[in-house]
Amino acid sequence: MTAPAILWFRQDLRLGDNPALEAARQRPVLPVFVLDDAAAGDLAPGGAARWWLHHSLAALGRDLAARGAPLLLLRGDAVSLLAGLARATGAAEIHAGWLVEPWARAQEAVLSERLAGEGRRLVLHRSTHLLRPDAVLTGSGKPYTVYAPFARKLLTLGDPPPPLEAPKALQPVPAPEPGLTLADLALLPRPPEPDWAAGFGAAWKPGEAGAKERLARFAATGLADYATRRDEPGIEGSSGLSPHLRWGEVSPRQVWHAAREAGGAEALPFLKEILWREFSHHLLWHRPEMPHAALRPAFAAFPYAPDRDLLRAWQRGGSGYPIVDAGMRQLWQIGWMHNRVRMIAASLLVKHLLQPWRDGFAWFMDTLVDADPANNAASWQWIAGSGTDASPYFRVFNPVTQGEKFDPEGAYVRRWVPELARMPSRFIHRPWEAPEEIRRAAGLTGAAYPRPVVEHAAGRARALAALRAAVRGTA
Ligand code: FAD
Repeated sequence: MTAPAILWFRQDLRLGDNPALEAARQRPVLPVFVLDDAAAGDLAPGGAARWWLHHSLAALGRDLAARGAPLLLLRGDAVSLLAGLARATGAAEIHAGWLVEPWARAQEAVLSERLAGEGRRLVLHRSTHLLRPDAVLTGSGKPYTVYAPFARKLLTLGDPPPPLEAPKALQPVPAPEPGLTLADLALLPRPPEPDWAAGFGAAWKPGEAGAKERLARFAATGLADYATRRDEPGIEGSSGLSPHLRWGEVSPRQVWHAAREAGGAEALPFLKEILWREFSHHLLWHRPEMPHAALRPAFAAFPYAPDRDLLRAWQRGGSGYPIVDAGMRQLWQIGWMHNRVRMIAASLLVKHLLQPWRDGFAWFMDTLVDADPANNAASWQWIAGSGTDASPYFRVFNPVTQGEKFDPEGAYVRRWVPELARMPSRFIHRPWEAPEEIRRAAGLTGAAYPRPVVEHAAGRARALAALRAAVRGTA
């Protein structure tokens, strides 16, 4: 009789284009997901990502059950649990997708060794990326540190191979133990905690079917205008695929081919964003310290000025800059924020307010449904100026002119900051400049909406002085 295989789902919660599944299903297969927060430490999924994970596992469980092989849910030390499962079922192989997070790579190494000692194998597959980060190196054999040449290199390789079909049926292996229920994993907000995720369900449909729908909708209606409209937060100008990609409900290869089929060469601006994801993951693989420490040594001792009140004002959408506050409230209400606004909000925090980028990173890790240690850390370090491919240190986004440029009529601000809904467009991004009678006519009286916590010119000057000193090594 053929020895069974274990299929270890990690961040590839789908059946289509899943090479680990394709390999495992050549034998009777036991699919399993293990929630191992201790291994992930401070990079374990935060609150919003856990909400997503709950619903994604529910969808995966249904899809697997429909194919005859129910999903086993476990919680605890993944290495011991998986090794024990392999022993109990007599599995010869465990198949899984490799990951880029340092804790996950360490887990792979320990499990692999443990299994090898018992004559079994951990077989790792490329499941959530286009290429392995160590398979793409510069001409001198080094990891890339700058996005543009990295992207150029990947584009010279041509389109990736076509995605794999999802299997219609699986040959199951009975689980040696009943496992946990989804409720046992306790991934959703629980009383007395307020249900901060109440607004998520209307915005998202986690799971492979939801990912497919969103991809199809974007390919049909969003892709053609993506290059010109992706920066407008007031419309659905980008794909909204990030949480689906985060949990591997769709693979980058599936996204790539769908975009190519719909847009041909015109899909390039969108594909380049998929390459930003690939680049951030490449960086994390080669610089595992990225979520915790500045990549540029000059920034190790940057003179941030931590201030709990300023941080809280920013987190709660009370900075007094409408575009930033709209973004932070969108984030709180639906677990996602538009990319342009993420940049403006992040720049305000680390530059005008001089708050450590790690505080912004941690808030995003907890509140984004797409919270991803690689993309999040690379983006924060890019904004802060401490990344390998950082934005020039003297670039300080002006939250007023950025708002006026990308949300000229204030559609985005009006939606997420209802206090400003009736403010005329010419003052929507600078309500403190509106004459009293206009403020009153717009219903903006007293402390209904705060003044900016830091005035732009002063904040900019203070940030530039600190940044200049850091770059010159005199901080
Ligand atoms: P689209 O524009 O449709 O792009 C398609 C896909 O490309 C995205 O789904 C995403 O997977 C990838 N992508 C796009 N932009 C980037 C980027 N700059 N870096 C890496 N990948 C990118 N993205 C995350 O997925 N998780 C995070 O935790 C995260 N944190 C961020 C923090 C900051 C401070 C900033 C400025 C950006 C962050 N991003 C993060 C990147 C980007 O904002 C989101 O990926 C994007 O807004 C998701 O929306 P979308 O799916 O509509 O993107």
